[in-house]
Amino acid sequence: MTVDAPVFSSTEPATGEVVGTFALMGPEEVAAAVDQARIASRWWADLGFAGRKQRLLAWKSLLARRADQLAWLVHRENGKPVDDALLEVALSIELLDWAAKNAPKVLGERGVRPSLLTINQAASLSYEPLGVIGVIGPWNYPVFTPMGSIAYALAAGNSVVLKPSEFTPAVGQWLVDSFRTVVPEQPVLTLVTGMGETGAALCTSGVDKISFTGSSATGRKVMAAASATLTPVLLELGGKDAFIVDADADIDKAVEAALFGAMGNAGQTCIGVERVYAHEAIFDEFLSKLSARANELKPGGASTSSYGPMTMPTQAAVVRDHVRDAIAKGATLAVGDLDSITESVIGPIVLANVAENSRAITDETFGPTITVNSIRSLDEGVDKANATNFGLAATLFGKNTKRLTEAAKRLRVGMVSINSWGSNAGVPGLPWGGVGDSGFGRIHGDDGLREFARSKGVVRERFASPLVLTSFSRKPETSALVSKALVAIHGRRKWVR
Ligand code: NDP
Repeated sequence: MTVDAPVFSSTEPATGEVVGTFALMGPEEVAAAVDQARIASRWWADLGFAGRKQRLLAWKSLLARRADQLAWLVHRENGKPVDDALLEVALSIELLDWAAKNAPKVLGERGVRPSLLTINQAASLSYEPLGVIGVIGPWNYPVFTPMGSIAYALAAGNSVVLKPSEFTPAVGQWLVDSFRTVVPEQPVLTLVTGMGETGAALCTSGVDKISFTGSSATGRKVMAAASATLTPVLLELGGKDAFIVDADADIDKAVEAALFGAMGNAGQTCIGVERVYAHEAIFDEFLSKLSARANELKPGGASTSSYGPMTMPTQAAVVRDHVRDAIAKGATLAVGDLDSITESVIGPIVLANVAENSRAITDETFGPTITVNSIRSLDEGVDKANATNFGLAATLFGKNTKRLTEAAKRLRVGMVSINSWGSNAGVPGLPWGGVGDSGFGRIHGDDGLREFARSKGVVRERFASPLVLTSFSRKPETSALVSKALVAIHGRRKWVR
């Protein structure tokens, strides 16, 4: 008797139609994929920066030419409108382009100036690939979020084993297949599919680093599992992002940005706007304009809807719980109500004057809802923004650039956008990541490349030093000379306070 290998299917959130059927992989299949990836990692590392850059740019070019096809697949499997999916693909291509072009400069070997005491040494710094990177991704941005790790890990010389969410495996498969078209020689980017258990198996499979994007709850499990093998982890987790509107802000512009940031992708965005703090001088105008625009949105399953159905039906219960709790604690409903929430499509919900201890303020809602509270000053907005355990991104709107830039420094987050929402996502040279319950480590930018490399310092003696310090034959005069040199170099009066 033959037993069919276990499989699972992903479905369209809008229609329930099957998008694809995939293997439910267990620890053995994951281990086999990692073994293959380890062999591939040596071949890939040996290509050097130039060889990898050429292949990564060929992949980029393929993605650009097939962007419409990929966007359509994202629309089908995740449920977001096609234009939103295309934007996600475009941002991902920019990440890949940046990583491929900048890896040689950021990670290439370079000389480092020695100190005066080691003037006889030539010092150099290089960044070596880690080996195999396990990338575990969510379903909400099934191209952009894994690409933030994949592109930088590959550019740094590693191979990658990707575990996409069980809700978006077809997108993961598409990415891996397209990569194989331009790099057919070795399985440098491979796929493992399945549920959470498959991700858990990847964490303990002996990969050299796990780059995880997902919820804070799962992030904790990933870190605990990885500790068994001392596998380093990079955690890109959830958020509760604040959007602060100062008294002199361009209100219409702020309303458009807050609305898209909150409701776009049905609010299923890690840097989604969940809390607005609007200055009391413009609070009423802001709330009424935001409500009017929210009422115009047309969510649904069409490719051109304002936003799509919930990708994960169980999220509706979380949204309902947060809205109910906010109302019970005194919030008013400016748009929508509990009837707006169905298992599939959730209509826009705007909550005003929400108690700061409501779950809609303290926990990630991850739905098309937004809270709007009044503040007396920008400083109060910053304090309230900082009052949750999350710290992913924040947005500031106003005219006084100096004041906003100073406020940006006081925000306990990894990313800030001033007078636009989410723009960090479009600057591939800037690091991406959060603090606190939003995780640690950085993807994107120079820091994102270094996350996937191991630094190595090498010193080479250029000439014998007249001051031999590391020898049992060290002479007393040498130490006396060192003492004098220390005072001359570091002990000058100008440093005394
Ligand atoms: P989850 O934490 O539920 O899942 C993320 C990934 O982890 C999925 O592939 C999941 O597989 C897998 N997984 C589940 N259990 C385990 C486990 N025990 N060990 C290893 N892997 C596991 O998150 P969601 O997919 O629901 O994504 C939404 C969350 O992601 C939100 O909190 C959002 O804020 C956050 N996010 C953060 C981003 C950032 O950049 N900081 C960007 C995008 C999203 P499966 O789906 O098969 O269960």
